Order: sequence, then structure tokens, then C-alpha cells
Amino acid sequence: MAKIVMKFGGTSVADLERMRIAASYIKEEVDKGNEVIVIVSAMAGETNKLVETVNSVSSFFDAREYDAVVSSGENVTSGILALILQDMDIPARSWQGWQVPITTSSTHSSARIMDICTQNVKAKFDEGLKVAVVAGFQGISEENRITTLGRGGSDLTAVAFAAKFDCERCDIFTDVDGVYTADPRIVFKARKLNRISYDEMLELASLGAKVLQTRSVQMAMAHQVPVYVRSSFTGKPGTLVCSEDEKMENRTISGIAHSRDEAKISIISVADRPGIAATIFGALSDHGIIVDMIVQNISESGRTDITFSCPLEQSALAEKALLEAKEKNLVNFHEILQDLEVCKISVVGIGMRSQSGVAAKMFSILADEGINIQIISTSEIKISVLVERKYMELAVQALHDKFELHTNRISSEQ
Ligand code: ADP
Ligand code: ASP
Ligand code: MG
Repeated sequence: MAKIVMKFGGTSVADLERMRIAASYIKEEVDKGNEVIVIVSAMAGETNKLVETVNSVSSFFDAREYDAVVSSGENVTSGILALILQDMDIPARSWQGWQVPITTSSTHSSARIMDICTQNVKAKFDEGLKVAVVAGFQGISEENRITTLGRGGSDLTAVAFAAKFDCERCDIFTDVDGVYTADPRIVFKARKLNRISYDEMLELASLGAKVLQTRSVQMAMAHQVPVYVRSSFTGKPGTLVCSEDEKMENRTISGIAHSRDEAKISIISVADRPGIAATIFGALSDHGIIVDMIVQNISESGRTDITFSCPLEQSALAEKALLEAKEKNLVNFHEILQDLEVCKISVVGIGMRSQSGVAAKMFSILADEGINIQIISTSEIKISVLVERKYMELAVQALHDKFELHTNRISSEQ
């Protein structure tokens, strides 16, 4: 008998009919003799509605109450799915995060999992329970308050349970049948990958491919949890996220990711001397701004311009942080320019480590389409560019086409 985790995302538990289909996948595993930990998301759209409701009450809300409200969607699905399973004569019960308990940090709305108590759940399995249905995305802080793990956080709950309970695998059921070479909703010819390395999946996720939440991939990599992304709609074979193997090295590019809602902020005419960048980015970090790409212009008569990108939703706060720093005479600049119409496009692949020319090819593909590159950043296995948002689909499709990701012979053989 094995223990496995099965996680069902919002669209896979969108209504009673979808929940019954999810239950049939769970039954298959129970019939094989497995003990199943099921992690559920809220019904599709439910968390967004709850967030909107909180925002409509106050824009400066108490994050503890935000978490109390937005975590509630998962409570509903866990209870209903347990009822559906019981109705199928499968011994099942639901757990909310605090009941497990899943203890977390107190960083409300983006809490980190500190520990998952296995004792209570295991005791029930020992008594004959077959399925533990756990509400994803939520936990409880040391102060005894409900916390949430950040949007898409049910993936993290799932991987954390798989690691803690030493499960054989972690199945992530979603509305696409695996990880594709690009978002299949944007690139019609995107191809499903049979396997992808943790490193590549981590880059794709953090660069915008929301099929898996970034922190869930970090956790899977740290604990070597095999994650199998599959569809609850088609039943087709999915994608295994696992340690890299030789074949994976042979493909230069594995995928293209995009992040639609970015902002570019330029600080015009700052002094070009030691300590200025530290002051600017220190002020931004004090306000919790997630700075992504950075460029500094060549200095002219001791002054320079610094440009950076950050999530669109943080652009107003970033401007506020910079103006405050100026008011306090920490930094002096002429003006701040904001461009709220940009997006980020990235190509990712572990093969880049050993093959040159990927950047040159990427830039020339974009140039051929008349797309201007505003900022560039690179790592060992990715190249990202910031471009005008109106070119997002065109850029992703052109790169996918010209890098021939739809026909990558090596990865389709895997
Ligand atoms: P769930 O609600 O099941 O957690 P999500 O909406 O969070 O599902 O993630 C699935 C979505 O991720 C897909 O519908 C797809 O549009 C998007 N996606 C983005 N990039 C990729 C990719 N490279 N491969 C597969 N799906 C992707
Ligand atoms: N329901 C939460 C969200 O929409 C968590 C999740 O679905 O993973 O972000
Ligand atoms: Mg998700």
C-alpha cells in the first residue's frame, strides 16, 4: 500500500459534476489499495470573488482578516468532496489547515509553511480512513490566526504533504494535460513535455507559467518529490517534474514563459556614486517592492538614470517609496517615469548552459517582428526581456516558432 497526494485545482472542483469526476480519479487510487491525501482548491473563481469583496470593503485592510475571508473557499470544497466520497462508500473526512494543523509563519497572505503535523491524519488512516481531504492554501500561525500561502498556494500545500508524509508521488490535477513548451492558451502549437527538470520548471513558474506555483516547485526540488501534472478533463498522460536526466540536457530550450502585468520605472538623473543604488533599492525593499530587472545608463557629468521593473500592481507603491526617500533627502533625482504597458518574455532551458548563441537568436527573432527590447536579464538557464505589452502574444508565438519548440525531436522522444 502506498500513500499518494492528489491535488485538484479550481477548475477541477468547479461544481458538483467536476467534483464527482475528481472523486472517480480518487476512487481509482483507493481501489488500487492506496491511502490518498487529497488537497483541494476553492471552486474556480471563488477566491477572486472573495478578494474582490475584501477590496471593496477597504483598500487598507487588516491582512489577518483578509486571510480569514479568502481561505474560506477551500473549506467549502474540502467538506463537499468528503461528502461525495462518503456517498460512494469511501471512508473520507475533511481537514481545514488549523485542524491538521499546518503551522505557518505569520506573514499573512504569503505565509510560509513551518510544519505539518502528521499524527492526527495518520491516526485516522490507522483507523481505516482511506481519503483525507485537506483544504489547500491555508494554515495557522503561532498567534492562532488563519493564514494563506499566496495565490496558487494549494500546489504548495500538496507538495508539502507529499514531502512530509513521504508519499510516492504528488499528482497535480488541472485544466491542461501537463506542462507545455508555452502557455497552450497563447501558443496553439505548444507541445506537451513528458518530463521537465525541477530547475527548468522553477524558472518557468517564477517567470509567469502559473501551471505550478513557484514555491511548490522549490519545495519539490528540495525534498525530491516527483510531481506529476495532469488533467482532470482528458485523463491523458501528463508531465513529470523531476531531477534532470541526460536527454533533457540535449534540448537547448524547454519552454517560453510570459508575465503580462509588469511595470517599468525609470529614475531620471541620480548621482552616480557609491551607495546610491543601495539607498534606492533599500527604500523599495522596505516597502516590499519585488524588483525584478534593473539597468543603469552610462553616466554623464556625474549623473545617471536607473530603470527597473516590478509587478504592475506595485508600481504606485514603488513611486511612493521613491518620493518619500527623496523627501527625506536620502536620494536626489530629477523625475520618475513610469511605463505601465510592458510585459516580460523569457526563454528557459538547461541546454543553454552548454550552448551559445541563444540570446543572439532570441533578439534577432524579436527584431524581425519589429519588437523593441527595453530591459534584458539572464541566468544560467534563462533569458528574459521586457517589451511592450501589445506585442506579448506575437513575441511568444514568434519565439516558439523560430526555436521550433513544436517539433523538438529530442524531447518528444522522451
Ligand atoms: P489550477 O486552478 O488547476 O491550479 P491554474 O490556472 O493555476 O490551474 O494553472 C493552469 C493554467 O496554467 C493553464 O490553464 C494554462 O493556461 C496556464 N499555463 C501557463 N503556462 C503554461 C505552460 N507552460 N504549460 C501548461 N499550462 C500553462
Ligand atoms: N484558491 C487559491 C487561489 O485561487 C489557491 C489555489 O487555488 O491554489 O489562489
Ligand atoms: Mg494553480
